[in-house]
Amino acid sequence: MTEIDWDKYAPETQAIRVGHRRSAEEEHSLPIYATSSYVFESAEAAALRFTGQESGNIYSRFTNPTVDAFQQRLALMEQGERCVAFASGMAAIMAVGMGLLKSGDHVVCSRNVFGNTILLFQNYFGKFGVSTDCVNLIDLVAWEAAIKPNTRFLFVETPSNPLIEIVDIAALAKIAHKHDCLLIVDNVFCTPILQQPLTLGADIVLHSATKYIDGQGRCVGGAVIANNDIIDQFIYPYLRTGGATMSAFNAWVFASGLETLAVRMQAHCDNAFTLAKWLEQQPQVLKVHYPGLKSHAQHELAKRQQSHFGGVVSFELKGGKDKAWQLINATEMLSITANLGDVKTTITHPASTTHGRLAPEIRALAGIKANLVRISVGLENVLDIQRDLERGL
Ligand SMILES: *Cc1c(COP(=O)(O)O)cnc(C)c1O
Repeated sequence: MTEIDWDKYAPETQAIRVGHRRSAEEEHSLPIYATSSYVFESAEAAALRFTGQESGNIYSRFTNPTVDAFQQRLALMEQGERCVAFASGMAAIMAVGMGLLKSGDHVVCSRNVFGNTILLFQNYFGKFGVSTDCVNLIDLVAWEAAIKPNTRFLFVETPSNPLIEIVDIAALAKIAHKHDCLLIVDNVFCTPILQQPLTLGADIVLHSATKYIDGQGRCVGGAVIANNDIIDQFIYPYLRTGGATMSAFNAWVFASGLETLAVRMQAHCDNAFTLAKWLEQQPQVLKVHYPGLKSHAQHELAKRQQSHFGGVVSFELKGGKDKAWQLINATEMLSITANLGDVKTTITHPASTTHGRLAPEIRALAGIKANLVRISVGLENVLDIQRDLERGL
């Protein structure tokens, strides 16, 4: 059989077709390779594998066919050369830090990233002599001003959580490269279906596969996508030694998740857009944060940079924390959980959950107020979601 050139195919097709090397059993569906090790034909063959002179499976901490299928699919969908999967999204971020940083280095991080990301950089990398400065995601002047001679990379999440703010990836990549830094983009909210940061100039893309890639809230996993150079020098050697490996079972769930990602993202976005417009009309709602709305400060940028506006909506209520908790507690169907990207709609109060461990002044700078509620809009009928919110409005 001739080797197919998958680069020519669209992401929807790549997501379904790439990565499965059919075994001697001629199975149609990707198998779960539940094996920790592999058998070599001879001592000589084993030696060639271990030195890397011959490619092939060695040990499932760093080579597994099911994990590899997932990696190949996601790499192509992001238009990257390679992908390395990790045990979680945080493990993927940890790998980027461990691979790229050394004592004395500096990181510029968006103030509006996943709470644990800031804690990882400040509390843990900070212990080993890496300093981190946080800047306002949308302020390009502040990004450039924060860069120092020892800055290794800029780290950004766009759209951000929970305020769904957006930064111009191409403009930020230019700033990073002008100062010899790398740009790292956490692409969890958009997935490669809505936005491909590498095509806009980013150097590394990160995922928590736990969210939309799984899509049904079952497994925890993560991934790093970049060119061969970055993966070979900094990421893959760290996986092999550091060992925060994705399991074959989880990779199998995520690989099938990718197969339906395009249609799910379309449906998530449609439901979220409908809900955002509806929320904007509710008298008890002070402000809705959704880039599809004309009232959103980066609406034009969102239209240009993304193919749709995403599945997460957040909004501020008239009143404080009591009103937010009241609304959350009044729902009967929505899941009160901080997870997102699930077919089930989830509702959360960021100030007391995902961002609760941040120092109050950092939380305030990030704009996460006590009256803020975040919804990850699922695939239930949107009228049912509205009715559930109406109970507490
Ligand atoms: C959840 C999440 C992470 C962390 O991923 P885990 O799989 O939970 O470790 C990182 N970034 C973003 C944007 C997330 O939503």
